[in-house]
Amino acid sequence: MVLAATFILSGFVKAVDPLGTQYKIHDYLTALGLAQFVPDLLTLTAAVLLAALEFILGICLLFAIRRRLVSKVVLVVMAVMTPLTLWLALADPIHDCGCFGDALVLTNWQTLWKNVVLLCAAVIVWKAPTLQPRLISESNQWIVVNYSALFILFVIALRSLYTLPQFDFRPYHIGANLREGWQRMMDGEDSPYTDFFIERTDDGEDITEQVLNDGGYTFLLVAPHLEQADDSQLDEINQVYEYSQDYGYPFYCLTASTGRAITRWQETTGAEYPFCNTDDITLKTVIRSNPGLLLLKDGIVIRKWSHNALPPEEALSKPLEDSELGKQPSDSATSKILWILTWFVLPLVLLTLADRLWAWTRWIRKKKRKSENSENSDHSENSENSDNNPINNNSSNMRKKIVAGNWKMNMNLQDGIALAKELNETLKADKPNCGVVICTPFIHLASIAQFLDQDIIGLGAENCADKEKGAFTGEVSAEMVKSTGAQYVILGHSERREYYNETPEILKEKVLLAQKNDLKVIFCIGESKAEREAGKQNEVVKAELEGSVFNLPEEDFRKIVIAYEPIWAIGTGLTATAEQAEEIHAYIRSIIAEKYGQAVADDTTILYGGSCKASNAPELFAKPDIDGGLIGGASLKAADFKGIIDAWKK
Ligand code: PEP
Repeated sequence: MVLAATFILSGFVKAVDPLGTQYKIHDYLTALGLAQFVPDLLTLTAAVLLAALEFILGICLLFAIRRRLVSKVVLVVMAVMTPLTLWLALADPIHDCGCFGDALVLTNWQTLWKNVVLLCAAVIVWKAPTLQPRLISESNQWIVVNYSALFILFVIALRSLYTLPQFDFRPYHIGANLREGWQRMMDGEDSPYTDFFIERTDDGEDITEQVLNDGGYTFLLVAPHLEQADDSQLDEINQVYEYSQDYGYPFYCLTASTGRAITRWQETTGAEYPFCNTDDITLKTVIRSNPGLLLLKDGIVIRKWSHNALPPEEALSKPLEDSELGKQPSDSATSKILWILTWFVLPLVLLTLADRLWAWTRWIRKKKRKSENSENSDHSENSENSDNNPINNNSSNMRKKIVAGNWKMNMNLQDGIALAKELNETLKADKPNCGVVICTPFIHLASIAQFLDQDIIGLGAENCADKEKGAFTGEVSAEMVKSTGAQYVILGHSERREYYNETPEILKEKVLLAQKNDLKVIFCIGESKAEREAGKQNEVVKAELEGSVFNLPEEDFRKIVIAYEPIWAIGTGLTATAEQAEEIHAYIRSIIAEKYGQAVADDTTILYGGSCKASNAPELFAKPDIDGGLIGGASLKAADFKGIIDAWKK
């Protein structure tokens, strides 16, 4: 929350004043001796993007959106900013770091300590990103991010750039009494107007006092550098000048430019108004527009206009004393804050409430269905489940009963299709009492997906690549598997570990890629004969889980199905006894509980694999920690496989 609030505030105040942020970036570049190499357009773009980035990161932290990515980006930002502010504090090349624009000015040491605290917070968030509670469900997060991005970029930053900062934190804001402030400075008191002076260019006379003490209206056209000033609105500027002459209001152009630039400006714009010199940094502080127009009365700032929004012709038809133009605008800071609350904060609050309400009703429905399901299974063990594919059956987190087939490198395409069709028809006619999945060679997937009734039988691959895409001849990526219509993938099968040297690190990558592509992973673990004889089975399965899937956050681990397959039992005809299997299944569940808590362990499906047949399946499946089987040889004939599936009906 501290990080979120700081990022939001810092991004917002920078976006409110993009030119101020640009000047600050320029100050940094000057301190580094790089200012002459970076064009203004680049620093201005960087200012807008920096403000938007900070604001959006803050919003993401607040709503806990893309937690892992955001926490990394925030850590990188803080890891760069903290040493930078250490340099600022030690070398003092710039007196105010500008992290909160003009809204909150901190000393360099204060900024450093602030960043140390934020860096610690960023490390904590990065270490445990998933502990941030989500304010909005994943499916609606894009609305928050896009709405915030549009708001900060267009409504705040670009609008402030086109007109003027919507909130003015500088000493020259509307309503500021320059006369009093200047007088205090003259009396030797602390005042922000130290560098404010107005010096006529023709005779060098200082007319600051005269201008500030004028009891009537005075127009000040402010152009820090005439060479870079925008002359596209010169007619409107000249029009205001003519108006000031008609009604007898003094009009001065304040600039830091020299005589040649002034002459060029006069020639190109036909300017007839008098020019005065003022400090350029002061002029940039007075108004964030080059040129911009200021109206003073009695030394008080009455109005400010950017060159893009000068007063229209019709407003210049009567004296300022009788016109709205001569009064301070009524849109106070409070009304602007109210506007932001109404158009930015309120929609997000309403969206969050609607989202939470929706999530809550879904949770209630889930709970209801869960209790109905458990009632049904209590009352009728043989009840028919209309949607047995566990991936479709989101009704509860309760662990699913699954029988999955692993065809390995068997059957050509025609035979595979025939087997899948037969199984499909059989299970449609006699609905299974568990989830059924068939994992086939890659080339079968797309064809089988066409006709398989995936509400009854899920389809999966037997492997996928550990790379996303690219020059990896012969490999098949998780995305490709997903694009066939498959929903599952077996990873970590002992045959792949042994014959294709798949290490825990490779499998870790595969799991991440499979999950990134929304594939449900059936992750195989199991010990060899020698390891069993040495009594090392627990150690082996624990290391296999730790090496590849215990790195996952809880929400991703919950999507994994574990398959315990003792290597010595695979395809050998040797089966672990139901007691042996139950013992290690219970152990696996206990280490899941240690890692993720009992609730996750209770919800994790753990399959047994290794010479499982219709004859031994009922005894195995009757054990409390065995939730079904991963079946090799016996999945190659519809009748054999059906016999195992029916073990759940016994
Ligand atoms: C397997 O390879 O996943 C497997 C369990 O094979 P089988 O059933 O043939 O032992």
